[in-house]
Amino acid sequence: MTGKICGILRQSGAVAIGVAKAAPVEEEVWRAYLDWLSRKGHAGMAYMENHSSIRRDPRLLLEDAKSIISLAFPFKPAAFREPEKGMIACYAYGLDYHDAIRIRLSKTLEKVKEEFGGEYRICIDSAPIMERYWAVKAGIGEIGDNGAVIVPGAGNMVFLAEIITTLDLNPNVNITNLDLCLHCGKCLNECPANALRRDGTVDSARCLSYLTIEHRGAWSESEAIAAMNTDAGKNIIFGCDLCLRECPLNYDTPHTAIQEFHPLKGIMELNKEGVAGLEQEDFSRIFKGSPIKRCKLSGLKRNIGENI
Ligand code: SF4
Ligand code: SF4
Repeated sequence: MTGKICGILRQSGAVAIGVAKAAPVEEEVWRAYLDWLSRKGHAGMAYMENHSSIRRDPRLLLEDAKSIISLAFPFKPAAFREPEKGMIACYAYGLDYHDAIRIRLSKTLEKVKEEFGGEYRICIDSAPIMERYWAVKAGIGEIGDNGAVIVPGAGNMVFLAEIITTLDLNPNVNITNLDLCLHCGKCLNECPANALRRDGTVDSARCLSYLTIEHRGAWSESEAIAAMNTDAGKNIIFGCDLCLRECPLNYDTPHTAIQEFHPLKGIMELNKEGVAGLEQEDFSRIFKGSPIKRCKLSGLKRNIGENI
């Protein structure tokens, strides 16, 4: 049954699928998470402190949950934007992954449900669940020094999703240490804001991705101002992904075959002057269905240095 279900789910475009037994997160990993929170590694993302009992035990997300299916969807583009136009994190070149993956998974889950029954809950950044932990537990990859999950053959430019189910599937118990990360130090060295820690965690208060996507309002903390004053910080329109782009594990991986993640013309052509001239109407039109909508027009203008 497990193999058949994974086979059906593969039709969603996932490049890796694995199964873990639904259970509480291991003590050591949970302690490390609490430690990161206590060091304020999550900066202003207060929601990461919420729902800790669910985050610790995802069985609370679905009654009678037995298994967690972890899936990876690649987003590496065929080409990156020209740097002089300003940086946009490449995961945001296409349509919003939350919507795209949910639609794809819902369709394939209908087939699974028809054949095997069961209840399901899809999580795509939509529930308090430790997605990288479950990806490793399900055997689809390992966490590299840049904190991202490395999937064999697909690198670490992947979105993760989970399906919690009441079906008692066979967990992947043959997980071996693949040692996929080269520990080459490129991600740490190329991070313009010194936001990556040697233990594979991110200091969000310095991370350009957090500061230009998640953070609301003006930057006031000294580490945020210093990060935004670096050359890379000054060149950002939306997000940063240098720690992924510079990772050698992504050099030879294929670009995504998922149509929804293919670059949108309006986003590929946008430059900082274009952002400066944007009105709300243009913003809504250009970023319809795009993850960039998340930071609103005021966020984009702040990112390019306009007063807000
Ligand atoms: S850049 Fe090197 S050290 Fe960093 S995640 Fe990639 S392989 Fe690992
Ligand atoms: S996203 Fe950018 S700023 Fe954040 S850790 Fe990676 S390279 Fe550093």
